[in-house]
Amino acid sequence: MKPHPASAAAQGLLNCHSCGLLSKNVPNASDRCPRCGTHLHMRKPNSLTRTWALLIAAFILYIPANLLPVMHTASIIYEEDDTIMSGVIYLWTSGSWPLAILVFCASVTVPLAKLIALTILAITAQRKSTWRQQERTKLYRMVEFVGRWSMLDIFVVALMVGLVHFQSLATISAGPGALAFASVVVITMFAAMSFDPRLIWDPEPKDDD
Ligand SMILES: [Zn+2]
Repeated sequence: MKPHPASAAAQGLLNCHSCGLLSKNVPNASDRCPRCGTHLHMRKPNSLTRTWALLIAAFILYIPANLLPVMHTASIIYEEDDTIMSGVIYLWTSGSWPLAILVFCASVTVPLAKLIALTILAITAQRKSTWRQQERTKLYRMVEFVGRWSMLDIFVVALMVGLVHFQSLATISAGPGALAFASVVVITMFAAMSFDPRLIWDPEPKDDD
């Protein structure tokens, strides 16, 4: 049995988010920082409620993002609407396997994995679980890290638009699915930002783990 380090919250200590001043025994949530006047709060206010609302919105938008066309290609001889999956299949069958894998990971696997990871974090935090706290913190750090690379897919689309323009007279424009997809990426980023990772460590650890 190893000793559990005491948290600042348990000691009644509170850091100001703006100027970093450490305050002790702040009695209620509406108190302000004595130095700079910023509202002080122990944890991000309504962290879980906000995270849930954003997660549900992202899950709903994930459906049109994958079902609606993200790309509209038009040339003199043909006109075509592509969803993310049909684009991946087209890249795969035309022999661009690395690009097909990249687009599939960036636009299907990674957004879904992030949504599932955040759902696990939100459920366990809500149930005040002490299960695998360290791994859950790592999971949160990974979600935050991946968030910075989520726009990778937009770069791929931009690259393809450039290639097509270069090679032919076809024009490419974004379909309604692209808007839904961008919304999923942005809303998931906000969900990750609203989740307060300190909630993972708030429940009292059991002595036998
Ligand atoms: Zn302050």
